[in-house]
Amino acid sequence: MVRAIVGANWGDEGKGKITDMLAEESDIIIRFQGGSNAGHTIINDYGKFALHLLPSGVFYDHTTSIIGNGVALNIPYLFNEIKGLEERGVPTPKILVSDRAQILMPYHVDFDAFEEERLGGKAFGSTKSGIAPFYSDKYAKIGFQVSELFDEAALREKVERVVAYKNIILEHVYHKPLMDVEEVFNTLISYREMVEPYVADVSLYLDKAIKEGKTILLEGQLGSLKDPDHGIYPMVTSSSTLAAYGAIGAGIPPYEIKDIVTVVKAYSSAVGAGAFVSEIFGEEADELRKRGGDGGEFGATTGRPRRMGWFDAVASRYGCRIQGATEVALTVLDVLGYLDEIPMCVGYEIDGEVIKDFPVTYKLEKAKPVLKKFKGWKTDIRGIKNYDELPVECREYIEAIEEELGVPITMVSNGPKRHDIIKRVSKLSK
Ligand code: GDP
Repeated sequence: MVRAIVGANWGDEGKGKITDMLAEESDIIIRFQGGSNAGHTIINDYGKFALHLLPSGVFYDHTTSIIGNGVALNIPYLFNEIKGLEERGVPTPKILVSDRAQILMPYHVDFDAFEEERLGGKAFGSTKSGIAPFYSDKYAKIGFQVSELFDEAALREKVERVVAYKNIILEHVYHKPLMDVEEVFNTLISYREMVEPYVADVSLYLDKAIKEGKTILLEGQLGSLKDPDHGIYPMVTSSSTLAAYGAIGAGIPPYEIKDIVTVVKAYSSAVGAGAFVSEIFGEEADELRKRGGDGGEFGATTGRPRRMGWFDAVASRYGCRIQGATEVALTVLDVLGYLDEIPMCVGYEIDGEVIKDFPVTYKLEKAKPVLKKFKGWKTDIRGIKNYDELPVECREYIEAIEEELGVPITMVSNGPKRHDIIKRVSKLSK
């Protein structure tokens, strides 16, 4: 059985925690897109970890963790992440890296920074992890696949071609020092040594696993609204964040993905530039940011303060639809326990008209939030295990969200720890 865990919003929904929790009863966990530009925060018996490249299942000894072909593979980063776990007493995880994954190169990181510098005030707010230059090269067919590391003669020839092309851009567009063929080649050879123990034909491995009835999790990074096709283009990431892409980025048939657990945040947060209709500012935002997540809403990779907002029903309903959500995990609900009243964005007003369906970007830029207020519950709901024990105002808020989404909320997360979860039977469940 293949199950995807993906985000409905702008990322940072708490997918890591849900994956970590569901990984307990799974055999294989796969990253299928993105790179080390976003992070998952996981708290377990070994401590608190921010994982950037490894899937969230690495803490169990019964699971296999896979980096799928769709990932932007930063090899030294992966190597250090594995070492970091071992240093903190986590048993050496079983890891496979797809031989079809492509390699994120140091020059991708440089080009990311050079482009942000060139754009100046009009920059995208990239995390400068090299993700956009990496995927550009992949689709321009000048990227390096892991498998190419094992054919040295062809590799050298390709390095020469790629470096010649990159140097034209470095010289004439960015006015930066040129790259050296030998250096790039040697970097790739050193990467081969690091990655070799993990390299596998992942789609073949998964084909067998599916036939044997193994439980497989696809772990998404970021969320629907950062998808390059269906998100707030161009303020998006460079690989698809949707469950559907899990089939491609892992190498499995699309019809094998039976369950799409879509993680929805009980309020909104976003990083980077772009329209954010339910955004709040000033003290109101500072308070929510300070109380949000586990120890505040600050980027797991960059430490940047996240932009904050109220729950956006328009964006989240769209986010669930475009994921093909079969069930929803509603997270960070405990954070809202301090509020007398909880506003929710239930519509967008654009040029005097109220809409309920998430629009394309130029319309989104003009949208003003239509807010509906809910009564706060004013208590700490952490530690509660049964849905019926939640305060009535809290259940009303959850049920209002479920009605807006039209997807059963089967899990409510009321704290950052693995077992801070309330399972729920929804009347929408078939
Ligand atoms: P991801 O990228 O979707 O995995 O999200 P992040 O890990 O970046 O952000 C989620 C943050 O919220 C982390 O700090 C988690 O430990 C924390 N978190 C997850 N679920 C909950 C929850 O239900 N309540 C609280 N208070 N924090 C949570």
